[in-house]
Amino acid sequence: MNIDLSGKVILVTGGSSGIGKCIVQYLAKTGATIAIHYNRNAESAQELASEVGCNSQIFQADLAKPEACFKLFADVLDSYGAVDVLVNNAGMICTRPLDAPADDWLEGWNRTIMVNLTAAGILTREAVNHFVTRGGGRIINIASRAAFRGDTPEYLAYAAAKSGMVAMSKSIARAFGKQGVKSFVVAPGFVRTPINDPYLEKYGEDFLVRDLALDRLTEPDDVAPTVVFLASGYMDHATGCSIDINAASYVR
Ligand code: NAP
Repeated sequence: MNIDLSGKVILVTGGSSGIGKCIVQYLAKTGATIAIHYNRNAESAQELASEVGCNSQIFQADLAKPEACFKLFADVLDSYGAVDVLVNNAGMICTRPLDAPADDWLEGWNRTIMVNLTAAGILTREAVNHFVTRGGGRIINIASRAAFRGDTPEYLAYAAAKSGMVAMSKSIARAFGKQGVKSFVVAPGFVRTPINDPYLEKYGEDFLVRDLALDRLTEPDDVAPTVVFLASGYMDHATGCSIDINAASYVR
């Protein structure tokens, strides 16, 4: 089996760190041109673009701002003329206990939903409208185990956002399949990335591995190849699906 995505343009949000960075590196091995989105980490994104080549470029956008999400897709189209695959990977965690002051709790809720769901929704809208004009495209949404298992009350908004992403992906798959649009979810469990540094430090690796059926933590390299396979077209008849990558810590 040969996966050759040369000539394809793939927008990866949150390409500057963790899972997104690894996805960029794996996709680039297929010859794809990657639009590497970042927010604050320009240096990492630029280094990555230089490393992967293939005319890959970096694009800044704060996905907490709706107008920046629309502009991001427009900027990528301006640069490359087309997008073949959208990977909605960027995400953040903003925890709030339920007994936090109401305005503080609501601020955390709104920011979490905006970055983790609304931004992906806006980019999905832009991508689908673009894809139907050119015979199709693929969307790969990086959700979370939390979408299916749920999470602790502090993560209420995060779990809700990731569940919303799953419903969105299924809806797009069902509505636009005949127009060539495919949509998938990848749902990781705990992955060793900067987002989790505080938890690794707090609980320690041994404790976190005890939650898994396998004998080591999941790394970004355990997630990225699935994204390449979904982007390749070999998985098109699985459109609408969600793939768990959680070392059997939560089996549905
Ligand atoms: P990470 O290393 O912290 O990377 C997060 C990425 O999202 C960064 O590229 C960051 O950009 C970008 N981002 C964060 N806030 C943003 C904002 N306001 N606007 C634009 N971009 C923003 O985390 P990760 O673990 O790789 O997470 C990637 C995805 O996997 C997320 O959607 C996360 O929810 C999901 N996930 C992670 C795990 C896990 O255990 N690690 C598990 C399940 C799901 P800058 O750095 O440039 O600011």
